[in-house]
Amino acid sequence: MEGQAFTWDLTDLYQTPREPSWAADLNRGVERARRLQASYKGADLSLLSPAAFFQALKEYESIQEEGIKPFLYASLLFSEDSQNDEYKTLLQKAKEQWNELENQLLFFRLALISLPPEKLQEFLSHPPLKAYQHALRFLRRFRPFTRGEKEEEIFSRKNLTGRSAFTTLFDEFTGAFSFRLEAEGEEKELTGSQMLSLLYSSDRSLRERAFRTFLKRHGDNHLVLGSIFNALILDAQVEDDLRGYQGPMHRIHLENEIRPEAVELMMEVTEAHYPLAREYFQVKACLLGLPKLVNFDLYAPLPSSPKKIPFEEARSLLLQSFQRFHPIFGRIAGEFFEKRWIDTPPRKGKYGGAFCTGMTPSLHPYILLNYTGNLRDVLTLAHEMGHGIHFYLARKQTLMNFDPPLTLAETASVFGELVMSQALLREERDPTVRLALLCIEVEDMIATIFRQNVLTRFEQQAYQSRRDHLLSSEEIGDLWWKANARLFGDSVEMIPEYRWGWAYISHFIHSRFYCYSYIFGELVSLALFQKYQEEGPPFLNRLIRLLERGGSGSPHELLKKAGIDIGREDFWEKGFRVIRQLIDELKSLGPWDRICVGSTS
Ligand SMILES: [Zn+2]
Repeated sequence: MEGQAFTWDLTDLYQTPREPSWAADLNRGVERARRLQASYKGADLSLLSPAAFFQALKEYESIQEEGIKPFLYASLLFSEDSQNDEYKTLLQKAKEQWNELENQLLFFRLALISLPPEKLQEFLSHPPLKAYQHALRFLRRFRPFTRGEKEEEIFSRKNLTGRSAFTTLFDEFTGAFSFRLEAEGEEKELTGSQMLSLLYSSDRSLRERAFRTFLKRHGDNHLVLGSIFNALILDAQVEDDLRGYQGPMHRIHLENEIRPEAVELMMEVTEAHYPLAREYFQVKACLLGLPKLVNFDLYAPLPSSPKKIPFEEARSLLLQSFQRFHPIFGRIAGEFFEKRWIDTPPRKGKYGGAFCTGMTPSLHPYILLNYTGNLRDVLTLAHEMGHGIHFYLARKQTLMNFDPPLTLAETASVFGELVMSQALLREERDPTVRLALLCIEVEDMIATIFRQNVLTRFEQQAYQSRRDHLLSSEEIGDLWWKANARLFGDSVEMIPEYRWGWAYISHFIHSRFYCYSYIFGELVSLALFQKYQEEGPPFLNRLIRLLERGGSGSPHELLKKAGIDIGREDFWEKGFRVIRQLIDELKSLGPWDRICVGSTS
């Protein structure tokens, strides 16, 4: 890899997209699913012996594991060049076949859900089935809310013209928005996500014009956007009522395996810490030389932007700091670079941002980055490497136990980021770099914890009010404004166009009440980090075990084994202590009269 750009090597999967085994694997998956259907559809799984049931379950799992490989390969190729027509066709074909395979397997999933409890108990006492205890019990929990096969079919067919028609309308409608804006002396035509990325610009007037223009367009289209939002809330209410769920969050809590009381407690503790976020906003205003932040300043970079870090340097920083943290982290991270499981340079047609794909237990993970050398990129590398290590370790599990629950999915990534930023802080003498690092860390935490809390509170309010009447766009705007004002208080001014800020959040459209799992995940990770700081290295073996367990238990069970009890009230406080420390550290970097731009005191 000397001297050349770090691109990934996908030949562990297939030599080329045209390799015959790609299409063969794709067809074999569907073929195997058809055979499973022929053997078991209509048959009563509870009549099987435990050994025969185990065999059927293994087959079901293995079909999915083998069948998803060509799809994952096509997705990776497409993400590195979405303008390549060959990749586009390949991905489309893989998608269709994968859907077909999933449809063929749906009957088996429904059969698992409807296993009678006594039978399930009996199966689970058969030793080879013990490993599936959590997965099978999890499915069973949806039994009271699952309707007969005919009704399920009606739900799913009517969804095409109901729920999913509205989400598609939202995506296509807002995806077609283009914005004219003067930037760097020329008139440009920009997409929505390009407009939002201007919030990270150092040019204040550009940030302001971009945000105002972006929001105003959503306001101009409030009739459509408000109507979609109303329809989706009502649709969820109707389906929840028909299925027997109690309240709009019931189903989501079941999926996340979290008790509603735990979520409510977490949100209340978060609200009690809103002043912490406000304290940071004041520090940031001072750093930007402003009397007060306006909400287009929240992500502005500091005036003295620090040096660039070449990728080679970032790589050795990462390897050193991970090795020092735990040899297993160091060894696995090393493997990612040596074996080229990571793609770093930005290219035309490549996906923006960064991600880590966990793949399956029989395949190793891959990481995609757009590394340009700023500090945020270095932390993103550490974040995605954390995900990579988590998936790598979880390969000890089988597919049904592989993916960590949503709420624990960020554990290793948050650790990775903190390990890296602490190493940088230890070695960096330049105060501007230290300031910038701390700001990035705190801002990420504010966005993942406090902002998501605001989003969830707003959503709760909207669902509650919609029970009673159709919501006007004005009313939605009021609810949104109030939820945000509770966080910002006097510390941040909102521009009037921000009334339309609710109208572009795609989580509200695609997966309702998703946002609270971000708060949960981040606070759990910070609490684990706090525990590591208290207990030192002995804690790390428990962390490694937690990561190795993947998704083989509920968040509660997995964390309990790591020595964390999320039922305890003081638990949620722990994460906020880490944020407190970072803000204190930031404040200790004074003297503020010299650091704050334009300060005269
Ligand atoms: Zn992540």
